[in-house]
Amino acid sequence: QHALPQADINNVQLALAQQQTSASIPPYLDYAGYLAQGGYLQLQDCHQGKIEKETLVSLMEDSGLRGLGGAGFPAGRKWRIVAAQAAPRLMAVNIDEGEPGTFKDRTYLERDPHRFLEGMLIAAWAVDIADVYIYLRDEYHGCRIMLEAELAKLQQAPPVANLPRLHLRRGAGAYICGEESAMIASIEGKRGLPRLRPPYVAQVGLFNHPTLVHNFETLYWVSDLVKKGSAWFKQEGRNGRSGLRSFSVSGRVSKPGVYLAPAGISVTELIEEYAGGMQGGHQLYAYLPGGASGGILPASLGHLPLDFDTLQAHGCFIGSAAVIVLSQHDSAITAARNMMAFFKYESCGQCTPCRVGTAKALELISQQAWDIPLLNDLSAAMRDASICGLGQAAPNPVDCVIRYFPHELQSTGESA
Ligand code: SF4
Repeated sequence: QHALPQADINNVQLALAQQQTSASIPPYLDYAGYLAQGGYLQLQDCHQGKIEKETLVSLMEDSGLRGLGGAGFPAGRKWRIVAAQAAPRLMAVNIDEGEPGTFKDRTYLERDPHRFLEGMLIAAWAVDIADVYIYLRDEYHGCRIMLEAELAKLQQAPPVANLPRLHLRRGAGAYICGEESAMIASIEGKRGLPRLRPPYVAQVGLFNHPTLVHNFETLYWVSDLVKKGSAWFKQEGRNGRSGLRSFSVSGRVSKPGVYLAPAGISVTELIEEYAGGMQGGHQLYAYLPGGASGGILPASLGHLPLDFDTLQAHGCFIGSAAVIVLSQHDSAITAARNMMAFFKYESCGQCTPCRVGTAKALELISQQAWDIPLLNDLSAAMRDASICGLGQAAPNPVDCVIRYFPHELQSTGESA
């Protein structure tokens, strides 16, 4: 009974059509250009037997490359686990990139798609994958048009025989479909709901087959690793860490953007050396090291290495390395309210601790005085009992305000 009038439907269709045709991306290296630069040589070496599968998996393990979508699981170990499962084995590539503040995958994809595709095909060869499903964020209209065209070229004139079957699937705008089991459900045509594990997707994944799930960027570095060796990757790093990471930097910095920087770099180093310093009139006050779910840290902890382990010890995590910089003109309380509203909206609603917990937390932190004991209890329940990472990480910004920004609570009279 709420059907749109035909004129409105026409307008919506027209707007969508314009969106499709006006979708544009920067100039990119196409298939011919990539081949001309020596692209796909590493994949050909694999298929020609110049590299053993075991050697390749060991190289990945030795490099220390970890999943760059957020969970940080060692990539080489994942290959080994999936390769040990019974065939047919499938692969799902996550390019949903829904974490607020994250735009690295898009930046690389729309400039150098075949570097990623070669890495994906090398992984598929190493693990003996029959079908690859690429799950692309549907808001990336230009990327989809480009990727469809480049995949067609690749399949028409493949650089090696026996390519796996390649499928490009469109996401549908749900943040939760970046979670691997929800993404798998979505690819299967079901509602994108996360599920409990075990069984892990490496054992029972897409269409109930063992599935290698990777974030786009993890695969983006594979061909360089094969070409340059694990030492190339490991020699980078700072503050006792090794490797490289791509940071999506936004907020109050002079030059927001994607920066490839040594793993373990601190936010102050990242801002000064890569992002052009703070904007005029702004000083570093706080930062989000991992988008909405990674928590909020104060400027006094701006020296911490931005890595998995250090941040975890401070109640935060790096996730997909979306660094959002706040200044003295911002407030951690406002940021926490904003993020909790986001989690409430994006919760899939499947489990009570998250569905009710995000709504309750938003209600509590929207009040002038925060009931801190109640918020602490609520956070513990959400962390302990939510099915997936969304509900488990949703309390992070609130916990961080209580732990690191008590002066904001006091200055506004907000306390238990
Ligand atoms: Fe859904 Fe939230 Fe439960 Fe995850 S934690 S399954 S998003 S309700």
